[in-house]
Amino acid sequence: MTITHHPSDETLMRMASGTLSAGPALVVSVHLEGCAVCRNRLANFEAMGGAILDEMPPAPLAADLFGRTMELLDIAPPPRTSERITMKHPELGLELPRAMQDCEIGPWKWLGPGFQWSKIKIAGSPDAKVMLLKGRAGLHLPAHGHTGLEFMQILSGSLVDERGLYFPGDLDEADDDVDHRPVVGHESDCVCLAALEGDTRLHGLLGRLLRPFVGF
Ligand SMILES: [Zn+2]
Repeated sequence: MTITHHPSDETLMRMASGTLSAGPALVVSVHLEGCAVCRNRLANFEAMGGAILDEMPPAPLAADLFGRTMELLDIAPPPRTSERITMKHPELGLELPRAMQDCEIGPWKWLGPGFQWSKIKIAGSPDAKVMLLKGRAGLHLPAHGHTGLEFMQILSGSLVDERGLYFPGDLDEADDDVDHRPVVGHESDCVCLAALEGDTRLHGLLGRLLRPFVGF
């Protein structure tokens, strides 16, 4: 299936420079396993030395950086072949991407009617706010907004919201501007890997649902 939703260039540059925090980096790593387009773009950002971003004054050089990046992309090498390997996780009833093989994965817990979550612990990053979310087919999630960035990679099933359709392999980056009301596709349950960045707090009804359980 064609992947239509990708991480932003800014996110891939932060991934390349090692400045993306552990939770979002895990979500992006899962996306990269299945997306040759983004592996190629990341390789270009890495080649140009993403770490230099930290030392640059913001505006003028960032603009120059973008131009040089675009030049590099024009001469990009062909994408590497996909190395997507999944591992079975019988307790959760699903196959997980290889990028999650070192994670500690909790059991499904009740979050709301037709809605479950599983806490993910990343080795060496105990404070990372990462979870699997599972919504039953046809579930209407409460309308919600975000404070900060939320990264969500679809692992199975599908979601639709005001901005489009999301299938396995798609990564959604939602920021302060996104206020949405996702609905799970009717064909099957939907499982996503989600990470919140920094001091991110979901607000609205979904946030109130999540907070007591997840402790975010
Ligand atoms: Zn991609």
